[in-house]
Amino acid sequence: MDFTGQDDQCCDRTLEKEIDDIDQSDQCPERLLVSEKNKTDQYPERPVEPLASDCCGSGCIPCVFDLYEQELKLWKEECRKIRQGGKEICDQEVLCPEKYLGFKLTSIKPVTRDTFMYRFDIPGGARLGLKAGQHIVLRGSINNQTITRQYTPVSELTAQGYFDVLIKLYPGGQMSQCIRSWKEGDLIQWRGPFGLLQYVPNVFSKIIMLAAGTGIAPMTQVIRVILENEDDETLISLVYACRTYEDILMKEQLDQWSGYWNFSVQYVLSQDTQENVIQVKKYNDTVHLGRLNSTLVSQMVPLTERGQVLICGTKSFDKDMINHLKKVGWEMKDIFKF
Ligand SMILES: Cc1cc2nc3c(=O)[nH]c(=O)nc-3n(C[C@H](O)[C@H](O)[C@H](O)COP(=O)(O)OP(=O)(O)OC[C@H]3O[C@@H](n4cnc5c(N)ncnc54)[C@H](O)[C@@H]3O)c2cc1C
Repeated sequence: MDFTGQDDQCCDRTLEKEIDDIDQSDQCPERLLVSEKNKTDQYPERPVEPLASDCCGSGCIPCVFDLYEQELKLWKEECRKIRQGGKEICDQEVLCPEKYLGFKLTSIKPVTRDTFMYRFDIPGGARLGLKAGQHIVLRGSINNQTITRQYTPVSELTAQGYFDVLIKLYPGGQMSQCIRSWKEGDLIQWRGPFGLLQYVPNVFSKIIMLAAGTGIAPMTQVIRVILENEDDETLISLVYACRTYEDILMKEQLDQWSGYWNFSVQYVLSQDTQENVIQVKKYNDTVHLGRLNSTLVSQMVPLTERGQVLICGTKSFDKDMINHLKKVGWEMKDIFKF
């Protein structure tokens, strides 16, 4: 990971350095701090260096010193693995809001004609450190100008060693142009986490989610947190607007969640046809054709006591949804826009 920000107060110790400390500490254990010494408790016993008198001086191959070097190398590797897989590293959350960190892009996978899944490496098996619904800020450069945009990782919040971001590329989009030039192995600059949603289980009896396109990203974080908590009895009703059936993102994941008693999803497709949908849809998909207008919102999102509505889409989608919801009687205090 490349720490390229200016603020040295924060995140100034790289994970690589922590792991590399093993190399130094095994040479000179007394240099370790007390806390570092505690970490070494789990290490296997260090090989004992032969005395000069242990060598017979006959030029044996391998010599006792060669064997010692091999043993030492293996021991270092084992210590490194313990350090990487151990609690100290895995419990670390690497993100920093004040400073951009470079994360290595490890894969790019097409999801639809214009949306791609980008996976980034987090060294040492650490976690990103996001809460449900939070996003991160990407820094890019185009025509020698620095630009920033927000994105919401869709990988599990507890994922260790990687994070995934689902990004739609727009033909005229500035950051989209920058992202199109990414290659596997590039270091990409992110900082965070940001976001004001603070999800508390069982506060609302029902959460209605209105999402459009990649606006599904923050919803998936909240859905996962609710469904993975057996004590959380919140009902989730997702209304997901896309252009066509093929544009539905994270469909497999949504199908899997549909098996939970407290989750349901309805798709609203603005540019699809009856013929296509009949051919491609799964038997238990609920699909509406047309735009998510005032009439449809009043049917799908009736005013619910102890309910909350989450909205994430384009600026115009968000604005339209808030207007439709107000007509139905929803108050702004029960509406959250990502
Ligand atoms: C909190 C938050 C989280 C976000 N998370 C994600 C995410 O996980 N994945 C993701 O792909 N995007 C996400 N976005 C949107 C993202 O930040 C950018 O706005 C988007 O990638 C477009 O940036 P751009 O520089 O390519 O386009 P810009 O240069 O900003 O825009 C150029 C043109 O592209 C079109 N355009 C741009 N954005 C949109 C849009 N959202 N809908 C329709 N047309 C648009 C418009 O015609 C616009 O005039 C998020 C936004 C916010 C605020």
